[in-house]
Amino acid sequence: MTIELSFSPDQQAFRDAARAFLEKEVAPVVAEMDEREEFPRASVRRMQEEGYFGIPVPEEYGGLGLGKVGYCIFLEELGKVDASHGVIVGAHTSLGTTPLLYYGTEEQKRRWLVPAAKGETLLAFSLTEPGSGSDSGAVHTVAERAGDGWSLTGTKLYVSNGREADAVIVMAANDPKLGANGGVTAFVVDANRPGFRVGRCEKKMGLHGSSTAELVLDHVEVGAEAVLGEVGKGFHVAMTALDVGRVSLGAASLGGMQAATRAALEFSQQRTQFGLPISEYEVIQFKLADMAMKIHALRGLVYLAASHQDTLGTDPKVWGRLARVEKTREAAIVKCLASEWASEVIDESLQIHGGLGYIRGTPIERAYRDARISEIFEGTNEIQRLVVARDLLARGL
Ligand SMILES: Cc1cc2nc3c(=O)[nH]c(=O)nc-3n(C[C@H](O)[C@H](O)[C@H](O)COP(=O)(O)OP(=O)(O)OC[C@H]3O[C@@H](n4cnc5c(N)ncnc54)[C@H](O)[C@@H]3O)c2cc1C
Repeated sequence: MTIELSFSPDQQAFRDAARAFLEKEVAPVVAEMDEREEFPRASVRRMQEEGYFGIPVPEEYGGLGLGKVGYCIFLEELGKVDASHGVIVGAHTSLGTTPLLYYGTEEQKRRWLVPAAKGETLLAFSLTEPGSGSDSGAVHTVAERAGDGWSLTGTKLYVSNGREADAVIVMAANDPKLGANGGVTAFVVDANRPGFRVGRCEKKMGLHGSSTAELVLDHVEVGAEAVLGEVGKGFHVAMTALDVGRVSLGAASLGGMQAATRAALEFSQQRTQFGLPISEYEVIQFKLADMAMKIHALRGLVYLAASHQDTLGTDPKVWGRLARVEKTREAAIVKCLASEWASEVIDESLQIHGGLGYIRGTPIERAYRDARISEIFEGTNEIQRLVVARDLLARGL
């Protein structure tokens, strides 16, 4: 058996073009965006124009058709430059376009997916509520029948892109008694519907360019055509999107780890103490070696999982149960390890920078603040460990 982990010439060309674009269009705006805590409209617009908001979406639906591997290649490059932009792309693509691509009818794809993939509209994904975080099946936002359609009422929390989104994938309880199993439905909701309002926007430790908004739905009326997938099967829709999100989060973390390691390498070769560059000291060398090992290991995990998702395809109706649970276990492993290794690598890079690493405005200080959330969102790492442990107990290793 031969397992190759190398990009095709087309994938390499895509990566090189993305890298050059991001250096030119995104890198220059990041420090000011972070300081002003502003959504980076101009650079997001440029990324949308280049098609970077529809990378894994097939060309027939307005995307670049590069699959999950292509998407991860881009997020790895973006992760080297800025985490806020990574979350903006991820909330839109992993969490916004996946439900439409995997569960949407042809009509829903034409109406919602095509403009989103072309970068004409921005999407968000709204599962979390004040009383329902890790216990995400315990949704309190209600979906009541209203004529042929539905009326949605409730408060959603911590929605990335929530302030700017044109449309939001909203999870609501069609039958609160049933919970995750039959009681939650996914809706695609136009943010301009009467009764839909953006509430408080959070001030955060990091990710200053990405909005994190409360959404208030007050009897928002939507037609039957707003339901994604089947009534009562919304939890599957959400979990499918999160599986894609968790692997792409791994790719963004991989990029962040490389930027932090590169910065530590350069700094350690320039900074002299006790008459020698600090890179000459074995303690520093061991830190650098540990950082490189984690990058090496994570690269394999991310691209293997991404290529498994490409092989599995985008039609959940043809997936067997085994394929589903393997995909979910693999995504949980990638997300958990990637986020913890990213925190460790960035922390060690900051340590190597000494006092300078703690000074506001240095890239490593920003990376340190930005990285921490990856252990929490898209399902906390405690929940990822529960996912892995439950599957282990059910099926073994
Ligand atoms: C910046 C940011 C962006 C976000 N973006 C989005 C978004 O776009 N869309 C969206 O829907 N949500 C989003 N979220 C929400 C995020 O996914 C949740 O915060 C996360 O899932 C955790 O939920 P919680 O905050 O309610 O914590 P809780 O669920 O209350 O957890 C608190 C602690 O208890 C632990 N815990 C809970 N249950 C168990 C258990 N059974 N066993 C062991 N430990 C447990 C958790 O791991 C955690 O450590 C975002 C959050 C932030 C901060």
